[in-house]
Amino acid sequence: MSDITFEEYEYYMKNRPHVVILGAGASCAAIPDGDKYGRKISAMSGFIEKLGLGNILSKVELITESNNLEDIYMELDERGKVEPVCKEVKNELEVAIREYMNGFELPDKATIYDFLVLSLTSKDLIATFNWDPFLVQVIGRVQKYTKNIPQVAFLHGNVAVGYCSKDNIMGNVGMTCRCGQTLKPTSLLFPIKNKDYASDIAISKSWKQLKNALKNAYMVTIFGYSAPTSDAEAVAMLKQAWGSVDERKLEEIELIDIRDEEVVIESWNQFIHTHHYSYHTDFFNTTLARCPRRSCEATFDRLMNCIWLDGNKGFKKGMDFSDIDNIVGFLIDEENRNVGMRKPLSNPYH
Ligand SMILES: [Zn+2]
Repeated sequence: MSDITFEEYEYYMKNRPHVVILGAGASCAAIPDGDKYGRKISAMSGFIEKLGLGNILSKVELITESNNLEDIYMELDERGKVEPVCKEVKNELEVAIREYMNGFELPDKATIYDFLVLSLTSKDLIATFNWDPFLVQVIGRVQKYTKNIPQVAFLHGNVAVGYCSKDNIMGNVGMTCRCGQTLKPTSLLFPIKNKDYASDIAISKSWKQLKNALKNAYMVTIFGYSAPTSDAEAVAMLKQAWGSVDERKLEEIELIDIRDEEVVIESWNQFIHTHHYSYHTDFFNTTLARCPRRSCEATFDRLMNCIWLDGNKGFKKGMDFSDIDNIVGFLIDEENRNVGMRKPLSNPYH
């Protein structure tokens, strides 16, 4: 550190990733009025009745008392290795989940996922636990506007994502890969107990992406993810990648959750350094929405350069795509000019 100038340090810090982790609550917040056809997305609990999966599940006696679909799916996956009926039920369940999830279509108006994707750039990462296709669909439409978009990782697989293991290429499921084969659906589970990563190569690749990004992250936002029991080992992996709270004094963590603050802080206390977290119930109050595309720049300026930020210049609820263009259009132009320059981007949020 002694050999580098403050300018170099500033560039390095501002250029570190902002990592966003999405759970089911984020998709619920993204389409509060339902999808294009008014269909609402169900939370993981209550999913069984909603999809009429009771019939399928009645073929086995479940050990878990949870009605969380992921808990049930995980039990079936585990038992399926020795009990053929569990494997059969798991497969039927998976077909039903894919059918249900694939049916969703983005509303025409801008969703929170549009704001989210446009609030980040290619140094950043969105890692999602969600199976629904909304984030993938948003990326498709945002890419027509700018190519400087965040990386994405699908920690539990995703119905809209396909993979070619030969070429190590991820894309929309069913798309033709350069080898001529179509991209195969990814499996829908993180292979926690099953260490045979080869069968879930797309998912294990996503976890590696998340671990690497977390190691370097300057900011982390956890949005609508309640860390269910089925994810205990996943959360342990996050903790390992994030390192000890005492070692990480500069980073900022933002939590977006509609549960009570106490409950949320309790579930994330292993990750939170006492003074560097903020809790929000609304995406539009976060640094992402208030300082889109410059969240790390603005946060560094606030903490290290003592610059007072103006929280009113960013995204606001109800904005349409032309409002969004007014806010980020000139920033995208600056990013294009700045490629390869090794100097920090401007921070217009003060
Ligand atoms: Zn291929």
